[in-house]
Amino acid sequence: MQGLMQDWPLRVTAIIDHAARYHGGRAVVSRSIEGPVTRTTWAGVRRRALQVVQAFRRLGIRPGEVVGCMAWNTARHMEVWYGVPGMGAVLHSLNPRLAQEQLAYIADHAEDRWLICDPDLAPVVAALAPKLPKLRGVIVLTDRAHMPEELPDALCYEELLAAEDGDAGWHRGDERDACGICYTSGTTGHPKGVVYAHRSNVLHAMAMIQPDMLALSSRDVMMPVVPLFHANGWSTGFSVPMAGAGMVLPGRMMDPASLYGMLEQDVTITAAVPTVWLPLLAYLREQKLDLPHLDRVVIGGSSCPRAVIEAFQHDYGVQVLHAWGMTETSPLGTFASFKPEVVAMPEDERINVQMKVGHPPFTVELCIRDDAGDDLPWDGETQGRLQIRGPGVLRRYLKQDADTIDADGWFDTGDAATIDALGYVRITDRFKDVIKSGGEWISSIEMENAAVSHPDVAEAAAVGVPHPKWDERPVLCIVAKPGRDPGVEEILDRLRPHFAKWQMPDDVLFVDEIPHTATGKISKLTLRRQLEEAGYR
Ligand code: ADP
Repeated sequence: MQGLMQDWPLRVTAIIDHAARYHGGRAVVSRSIEGPVTRTTWAGVRRRALQVVQAFRRLGIRPGEVVGCMAWNTARHMEVWYGVPGMGAVLHSLNPRLAQEQLAYIADHAEDRWLICDPDLAPVVAALAPKLPKLRGVIVLTDRAHMPEELPDALCYEELLAAEDGDAGWHRGDERDACGICYTSGTTGHPKGVVYAHRSNVLHAMAMIQPDMLALSSRDVMMPVVPLFHANGWSTGFSVPMAGAGMVLPGRMMDPASLYGMLEQDVTITAAVPTVWLPLLAYLREQKLDLPHLDRVVIGGSSCPRAVIEAFQHDYGVQVLHAWGMTETSPLGTFASFKPEVVAMPEDERINVQMKVGHPPFTVELCIRDDAGDDLPWDGETQGRLQIRGPGVLRRYLKQDADTIDADGWFDTGDAATIDALGYVRITDRFKDVIKSGGEWISSIEMENAAVSHPDVAEAAAVGVPHPKWDERPVLCIVAKPGRDPGVEEILDRLRPHFAKWQMPDDVLFVDEIPHTATGKISKLTLRRQLEEAGYR
């Protein structure tokens, strides 16, 4: 017997319809690229998204076509976030910090036929456009007065919208249709395209708003500092309106003073990679400022240092939600929220749990396996390859001939992890970053976390360098805080309680800078190359 309930397609337009109908007056506050802070509502975002649908149809953009978008977090970006999938096209988010060759590769590979961009990114798009012979046009997210000189033939977004009345309907497609595309950063080989479906985005957002995840409600105001173009915007573009929460969009200004100004717009929850929070915390201390509205902060993308968790929680009463995910998993897979067993622990132990990345919501399944594919125990000690499956997890990369999952649906994350008896995951490394010495692993993440616990250390990166006897030996690179000089012995003292003698680094190098990827993570590949050039081979 079949169930007799309605078959209601899970398309993302249903999210913005819900937000506009039931939370229509909720504020969406945005720092515009032109400068001023603007205010709209979910009803306003929906109305203008429908104007986008009309305008783009008039331009001849067809359902299924790919539209590239290179923009910061603003209200206009949210309009195209819904307008493009709303007319059945596919929004390909582009990271402006990528190298030109990578941008050209991914825009061509995804077959972007139009590019949308913010006016300040016109120089990047002007250099990119000639490399895309099939590109039909560029639309700049601004008004006529701010149209950039670098793009003389581009269309003006506000003029396109002014010609439409918003009296249109969404494209009626299947829930499995493509909705958006993000590329992985491609630290090895070419970047690979991840194609999200309407259904996967809706299900992922439903999982994200749950109490053990973002715990979003209509009483929240969320500010995603993580860019919408990074890993599906950590779902915020979908989960915030789905919950009927307010939204604050910080634009392109990422300096602590600008971010603080936007947090003052009653923000209760925010999200970004760890590197955003270190300067903000320093700024708060210097200026003797408080965070009266903020309740919780989501930190992920790379391992969150203990000092950041302690500062937010002890000094400002803001709960840290350490999260793990990847572009291929929509992106969030786990949150370090407290199960009752953790609430009962003494505070120091609770912070130990928060250094892990947490447990998954319903719709995400995880396991750890050895190289032979056998399941490993959840004892918090045994390390294995972290595998994931669920309706928000990638099956196949764009334009590849074969699925990238095994027969049971498991996707290998490439991360090394342990899982404890309570189901909390600890990421110990990325497989390609693991340091293998004498057949044993040394966790680069744990070494970095121990080093940055020294108050004079700004950043640390541990990598394996080739060694004739041990295969690889760890070398630790340190960037000291301005005007500070911690010295090698002090750093080693920090490490000793956590590492056996043979795991200690062979060298501690003080450097001016550690190389980063376009998503702000430490680029171990570049660092290893630099060390090789410096004679570590
Ligand atoms: P990119 O390589 O473009 O940054 P992703 O954002 O998809 O791409 O990166 C996903 C990877 O980031 C994960 O596989 C994992 O190695 C790392 N990562 C994400 N969150 C965390 C975390 N909280 N702690 C440690 N590593 C993390």
